[in-house]
Amino acid sequence: MNYAITPPAVPSLPILDSELRFPIRRVFCIGRNYADHAKEMGATVEPGRPMFFCKPADAVVADGRDVPYPSITNELHHEVEMVLALGAGGRDVTVERAAALVWGVGVGLDLTRRDLQAQAKAKGHPWDVAKGFDHSAPVSALRPLHGHLPGPDTELRLTVNGSLRQHARLGEMIHDVPHLLAALSTLFELKPGDLVFTGTPAGVAALERGDRFHAELNGWATLEGRIA
Ligand code: MN
Repeated sequence: MNYAITPPAVPSLPILDSELRFPIRRVFCIGRNYADHAKEMGATVEPGRPMFFCKPADAVVADGRDVPYPSITNELHHEVEMVLALGAGGRDVTVERAAALVWGVGVGLDLTRRDLQAQAKAKGHPWDVAKGFDHSAPVSALRPLHGHLPGPDTELRLTVNGSLRQHARLGEMIHDVPHLLAALSTLFELKPGDLVFTGTPAGVAALERGDRFHAELNGWATLEGRIA
């Protein structure tokens, strides 16, 4: 194929204990997947269909690189989340088959321009500029699953400058991994290379320039980085 301009690079993540990298196709995110976070945002959790949004694949910040403080916000918030990396896809995937799509897991931050999100919510505008900005998705190296998802007692934690900001057990998720993927696959055809942010617990708060963050999916993945 001859392109008119140099084709954009494929965004990718490192894989623990491997020289290979995981190529990223799309980044899907679920909103309001922990009841205590929905409550702190003043949202009610409706049973049934989860709420999804997307980030561009090239919003992912890999390899512990610095995250530049974004433009046009005074309220950059952290949301620590387990991140799924899909090795297989499908459309209308059943709950029973959904876990088998997951190739690996990591931990990431769904960075949010909270002030712009509040304005968008008030005006009924889309969330893209609040959620899908450049460098809005730092993600750790991925750990291949070999068939076993992290269990419900696995702890998700975020410290900023050494202080604990967010922590939860995965069992607190409203929509667990199979139900979340099954629901997402009714809206989009999932494909290998897709990442899925699985929602954040309570404790979201502001990050400032110079802050150092340390996110952990205990026993599975670690992400360290800095707001530049
Ligand atoms: Mn989130």
